[in-house]
Formats: sequence, C-alpha cells, structure tokens
Amino acid sequence: MSENSGIPATSKAAADRVLNCQNLPSLPGVAMRVLELTANQGVSAQEIATTIQNDPALTTKVLRTVNSSYYGLSTPCPSIRRATSLLGINTVKSIVLGFSLVESTKRAGLERTFDMLAYWRRAVYSAAGARCIAVKSGRCDPEEAFVGALVQDIGVLACAATLKAEYDQVCAQAPGDHDLLAPIEKALLGIDHTEIGAHLAERWRLPPQIAECIKQHHTPDKCRPEHQQLLRTVALGGLAAAFLADTNQKRKLGAFVSSAREWYGIEQPVARDLLVQINDGATQLSKTLEIKTGESADLSGLMSQAHEQLVATQEQIQRETIELRKNNQDLELRSITDALTGAFNRAHFDREIAAAFQKSGADKSPLSVLFCDGDKFKNVNDTHGHPAGDAVLIELSKRLRDALTGIGTVCRCGGEEFAIIVPGADADRALKLAEVIRRRIAATGIDVSAAVGSPTVLPVTISIGVATHDPRVGAAFPGFEQLVQAADQGVYAAKRDGRNCVRAVGRNEAPRPASEVIKVLFVEDDPMAARLMGFLFDKHREFSVTFVASGEEALESVAKSAPDLVISDLNLAGISGIQIAAALRSKPATAALPFVIVSATVTDKIRAQALDAGVAHCIDKTDLLGKIDAWIATFTQLSRGLRKAA
Ligand code: GH3
Ligand code: MG
Ligand code: MG
Repeated sequence: MSENSGIPATSKAAADRVLNCQNLPSLPGVAMRVLELTANQGVSAQEIATTIQNDPALTTKVLRTVNSSYYGLSTPCPSIRRATSLLGINTVKSIVLGFSLVESTKRAGLERTFDMLAYWRRAVYSAAGARCIAVKSGRCDPEEAFVGALVQDIGVLACAATLKAEYDQVCAQAPGDHDLLAPIEKALLGIDHTEIGAHLAERWRLPPQIAECIKQHHTPDKCRPEHQQLLRTVALGGLAAAFLADTNQKRKLGAFVSSAREWYGIEQPVARDLLVQINDGATQLSKTLEIKTGESADLSGLMSQAHEQLVATQEQIQRETIELRKNNQDLELRSITDALTGAFNRAHFDREIAAAFQKSGADKSPLSVLFCDGDKFKNVNDTHGHPAGDAVLIELSKRLRDALTGIGTVCRCGGEEFAIIVPGADADRALKLAEVIRRRIAATGIDVSAAVGSPTVLPVTISIGVATHDPRVGAAFPGFEQLVQAADQGVYAAKRDGRNCVRAVGRNEAPRPASEVIKVLFVEDDPMAARLMGFLFDKHREFSVTFVASGEEALESVAKSAPDLVISDLNLAGISGIQIAAALRSKPATAALPFVIVSATVTDKIRAQALDAGVAHCIDKTDLLGKIDAWIATFTQLSRGLRKAA
C-alpha cells in the first residue's frame, strides 16, 4: 500500500513529518501563559485578567462570549476581571483556550480542498454537546468537557496543515464519518490523529485531562480512571455531533441514546431534549467563536428520519432490561430455594425466622414454628433406594407447600426435616394446623413407582414439633433461637411418643428426658390393627411405639434399636409371635427382653406355648382394648423391670 500511494509506511516518519513541519499550528503566547497561571492553585482573578488583556482582540472576544446567552448572565459583564469572578477561572480559561486554538488553526496554511466547515461543525457541535451533557449529568466540569470536546480532533488539523494533499486523500476515504477516520489514517499513514494530537498537547503543555480527551476520544473506556467521566462526556458530545452535524449519520442516534442511558441513566425523552439544547447551543457557539459551521441541523426532520432507529433502540433496551430483571430474579430465587424439593432453603429460613420474630415483637402478634420430620425415613432409602427417598421428599415438600399456601413459609432445613414459619398463628391454631398437615400426609401413600421402576406406593408419616411465641399472653421466647429450639424439642417429643403425631413445647416446658421414655416395638402385619394400637398409645406420652409388619423385621429392629418391650401379634405372615419370642430368648442380649403376645384367638394351648417361650403375657385383643389403662400400667412395670435389671 505504502509503495503504491507514496505515503510513508512507518508511523515515526509520519509523526516526525507532522510535528517538525513549519505549518504546524502554534498556541498563542497569551493562551500558553493563561494555562501556566491556571495550573497554579493560588492564582488570582486579577493576574489572569491582566494576562488576557495583553491581547485586545482576544479580550473583546472573551467579553462578547461571556455576555452571550450561552452563559446566561443576568447583567452584562464589563471586564475580564469581573468575568473571572462571575464564571470562575476555569470557564474563562476554557474560553481563552477555545478562541486561541481556533485562531491558531485559522492561521495554519490549510489546503483549500480540506473540508474546514465539516471539521468545525463537528468540533462545535461536540463542544456544545459535551458541555450540555456535563451540566445535565453533573459528573464532570462542563468547561473542561467543552474545551476537551472542542480540541479533541486537533490532530486532524495538524495533519491537514502539514501533510496537505496527502491527508486530503486520507479524508476522502472516510467521507462524513469521523469514526472511520482513525483506522484509515492508521492504515495509510501508520499513525492516527489521536496520536498526533497527543504529541501536540504535550508540546503545548495542555492540562493532562485535556490531553487525555485528545488522545482517547475514540476509546473513552481506555483512559485513566480519574478522567473517565470527562472522556465519556466528550465521547457522548461526539455522538451527538455525529447525529446532528455529520452527513448520513442518522444511525448514530441509537448510539447516542443507548450510551447516554448506559453511562448516565439518561432516558430517551431526556436524551431528545438534550439534542434540542445541543443544537441550539452549537448554533450560538459558532456565532460567538466566529466559525462557519453551516446550516443549523433540522432536528425535527432528523428525528423523524431516525424514528425507526430510535424505536429499535428503545425496544432493544427494553428487551435487555426485561432479560436482566428476569435473570436477577431467577438468580435470587435460586439462591433461596432448595434444589431437590423446591421449598425454601435453610439460609432463607434463618433470615425469615429472624425477621418474623422481630415483627411479632413489634406488632405484639403471635408467631408459630412447625418442625416436621419424616418418620423412619432412613428405611425408605434402605429398602427402596435413594431415588425413592428423593421422590418422597419432593412429594412431602409439595404437600406441605400446598397445605400452607398463603399461611406459612415452608423451608427444608435438613435431610428430611422441614420447618414452617406461620406468622399470626397462636398456640391453638398452630396445633390444629399441624394436626391437619400430619393427617394429610399420612392419609395417602406416596407413589414412588417412577423412582423404583415398579408400581410402589409407600405409606409416609411425619412427626411435628410446634412452638409458639406469643407476646400477648406472656408466652414470649427471649429470641428466635429459643423458639426454634422448642419446636425441635417438640419433634423429639413426637418421635418419643411413637411418631406420626404432633407435640407442642411451650416456653417453660422442658421436654421429657429420654431416660423416661419407654420404647415399644409393636409387631403387627394388619395395617388397620396397627393404626388402632397406635391410637391407643397416643394418649400415653411416655411410650414411643415403633411398628413393624413381620417377625424378620422385628428381630432386625430389636438388634438395632434395643426396645424396652416387644408386643407382637400372634399370627403373622412369616414366623409367628411365639417364634419371635423364642428367637429373642435364645440370645443372651435379648433373653430378658419383656415380650407380650396379643391375639384375637388366645386359647389355653396357645397361652401355654407362649409362656413356655418366655412370653410375659398373652392378651386377648378385646381384653386389651377394654382394660387398656390397666395393661399400660403392666407394660410400664414390665419395661421398668428390664431397665432396673440392666
Ligand atoms: P426418625 O423417625 O427417628 O426421624 O427416623 P429417620 O430414619 O427418619 O431419621 P434419621 O435422621 O436417622 O435418618 C434420616 C435419613 O434421611 C438419613 C438419610 O439417608 C436420609 N436423607 C437425608 N437427606 C436425604 C436426601 O436428600 N435424599 C434421600 N433420599 N435421603 C435423604
Ligand atoms: Mg431425622
Ligand atoms: Mg426422620
């Protein structure tokens, strides 16, 4: 490319040619002096005024600018000294710098072919835009934004003044689109106007933030962090200028609108208003600086042409916003949900219970916690496999949540433990609610066929512990931790009392110590009979009854859980009650275990066989039901006897 076009290949060569050229614009001495002075913190308004007044032409222009509607002073400003104190040193410096740069480039010998009008059009619209946006966003100094935007393309002028026709060739490749210029310069000259401009800024000792605007105006997010707001503002000014001042740049409206929104939260209607202001400001500014910038942009025409673009941008923004919001919600929900069961997780429970406890205290309203624990859940895993266990947990969670919709918050707190927070429920209501839940779970078996691979419905029960914090009736817990602990103790009590039941633990009620609990193993293969027996034992809280359906299961369970008493039906599908008794008798560890047979068909012969096998009592079922209290007393004595012996 370089051979053919005759343009130097290395950036160094091009940079040297530009920077060493006689025609390179220079900054007037007065402007240099003002820059030096303003770099010094302690400079006085008077010193600056005196310096500027050395140049009468500049003084006139500055005063005219200061008094233009652009700065909106209420009374005319007669002197530079006054202007400096009215508008601030920074503003006056910016005006001086702006004028000086314009002057110096006007003097630079530019080819007639260079499109001066387009250059200044972009500069003036960018400067008006950057100032306007800085005022709106309040994120950077409007005057710095103004000067930064005005001089950002100083490198273009330097190239045009020094490389002349050669540079015109470069510009011809990117008509009306400033964004294309830098890559074309880089390709054809080996250096672009931002780099040339940066050298110039250094030579002129421009303030670092202004130098940064020149160097990074195409890459605002690559600048030094302390200048980012200024650079973004200048870049936005550039986008506004591209839309308002470049030819064929209607597409740029979308870029302006979305960047304004992303960087400064400026919504579309406000962005439109800003464009109107920028357009007016630019017209005003070109008059003040005495620069030809062509016709003022026909904003309503531009807007209607760009309408489709705007709608598309807005729709895109809406889509992104909805997507983002949805993603955030999904993420948030996932962080508080138990993945297996869909109930809330432990972390959510911890937060919710703390908040509910505080609210309960503040509102003087009751708060109940229900702790639900799957009964003998381990058996499900052991017998039917872990997937079946999972299926049970999923269904348990579903039933709990269905039962509590709009009433309480169901959280999975551990393996097969669910905790439910019920704000507003007093002790009575909480107990009733727990009982409803318990019954609903027990009423219908859970279908785990899909998990097991064959038709299987499992009977599942839960034990529930209930605790209520009620500030109104003096049943207040000191903290939510104690409330939760009480509910947990309730579960423990329910387990001890035979499972599949509800137990409440009040504020000052200690749960019964484990040593007082009598563990009964009940062997019964008829589910109806097992239920009935469970019901009879329900009233007697000191008993914790576990049911098994066969002799084989009974022998296994005795080995594992060491009950205090075994009660067995006589006739079972496998080995009989008497055979179980004999088997236990034969082993030293279980030889002394009290054993009771219950049967609907007790004959003398059977009774004799049973006693022979070491059975303590052989009871007729009707007799048991009729004298249950007396029999309970007997069972207690039997099991306590075993304890004492042990
Ligand atoms: P109890 O009536 O005394 O509560 O008896 P249990 O067997 O339910 O109690 P235990 O705490 O001994 O056993 C709980 C079992 O729950 C042990 C563990 O294998 C099972 N478990 C815990 N989390 C999961 C899970 O996510 N999936 C499955 N399938 N099982 C689980
Ligand atoms: Mg458990
Ligand atoms: Mg359990």
